[in-house]
Amino acid sequence: MDQVSEDMSNLQLGGRSVKDDFPNLSEHNNHMAKFLTIDLYSKLREQCTPNGFTIDDVIQTGVDNPGHPYIMTVGCVAGDEESYEVFKDLMDLVIEERHGGYLPNDMHKTDLNPENLKGGDLDDNYVLSSRVRTGRSIRGYCLPPHCSRGERRAVERLSIEALDSLKGDLQGKYYALKNMTDEEQQQLIDDHLLFDKPVSPLLLASGMARDWPDGRGIWHNDNKTFLVWVNEEDHLRVISMQKGGNMKEVFTRFCTGLTQLESLFKEKGEAFMWNEHLGYILTCPSNLGTGLRAGVHVKLPNMGQHPEFNEVLKRLRLQKRGTGGVDTDAVGGVFDISNADRLGFSEVELVQMVVDGVKLLVEMEKKLETGEPIDSLMPSIQRYRTEETIVII
Ligand code: ADP
Ligand code: MG
Repeated sequence: MDQVSEDMSNLQLGGRSVKDDFPNLSEHNNHMAKFLTIDLYSKLREQCTPNGFTIDDVIQTGVDNPGHPYIMTVGCVAGDEESYEVFKDLMDLVIEERHGGYLPNDMHKTDLNPENLKGGDLDDNYVLSSRVRTGRSIRGYCLPPHCSRGERRAVERLSIEALDSLKGDLQGKYYALKNMTDEEQQQLIDDHLLFDKPVSPLLLASGMARDWPDGRGIWHNDNKTFLVWVNEEDHLRVISMQKGGNMKEVFTRFCTGLTQLESLFKEKGEAFMWNEHLGYILTCPSNLGTGLRAGVHVKLPNMGQHPEFNEVLKRLRLQKRGTGGVDTDAVGGVFDISNADRLGFSEVELVQMVVDGVKLLVEMEKKLETGEPIDSLMPSIQRYRTEETIVII
């Protein structure tokens, strides 16, 4: 634990000293735990957002979840749009480390024009399915860790009204979780279309599972290729997906649907949380910026066992997960491979990294199948952003 100054340790809040309330983070491995010193905690304990979100609310998930078996978690959440400003002394450090050296004065960029994507049709023999998702938050409403029942229901109502106006092959229907049977819910989860029940400690500890299943649901078009989750981790999660490797088609539908949805919200006088520095504001700091995760389920039985697999992913700026979601391990050599970044790159740039990276991984897999080495295909290491923060491209 850090040295605490005399003044700080004597600070009282609700009759308790800072030392009494400072969490034990000694066994922790998440971004928040790395940066939260007792001095910083002491300073932020004096702050609160206009909606009443405190530093203890921000860090609870990271206190209760010391680490995650497959990904490095950030260990903190936002309860409202203002959380990123009020708690910026901690948030900026987490954001800088999680987002490859992204600094407090950096500006984010948006590019939702699918014409700018080069290539994008991946090998169906290896790529089983392709998916692009993002989140959006509606300005003026608290985020899932902190919203009231009424706010959550209002977000649901607004979303259904907007979604019901989508036309053509985006036309669809809303299914409230509370009206679904357990079997119907499980079927959608098994088909990879619906978020899991709130068993994840990340969701539980942050307060996002309160009142479950009230106000939650899924909207999808008739052929289940454009889906919107309502009030899970974010107000909205917008997803485009289909079987096979045609990421270009998936991304094109994603951009069209998302842009139409934003216009529909605007027509109702509603705006998405956004600013030039952080891009789209979402619950988890790891999703700021684009909020975009473009991923494929891809068969890599040989490559997945190669000692250089993790290094290759790092150099390609990609992340691996199991095919059952973030809390699962890969089974039978099939991985969920997606972009690791969200902020500081445009949507097109991130999808391009996935398209190019997965293409290379499949080439490597083919080499390994015939017993050939993959040395000649190893991506190079490049410096990115600042001299101090060397991030592998
Ligand atoms: P996220 O939070 O980024 O949406 P999760 O890892 O929590 O993703 O997974 C949510 C659900 O989406 C899971 O059921 C998972 O299997 C499914 N999924 C994720 N990527 C793909 C993909 N490329 N193809 C099919 N299903 C996917
Ligand atoms: Mg998830």
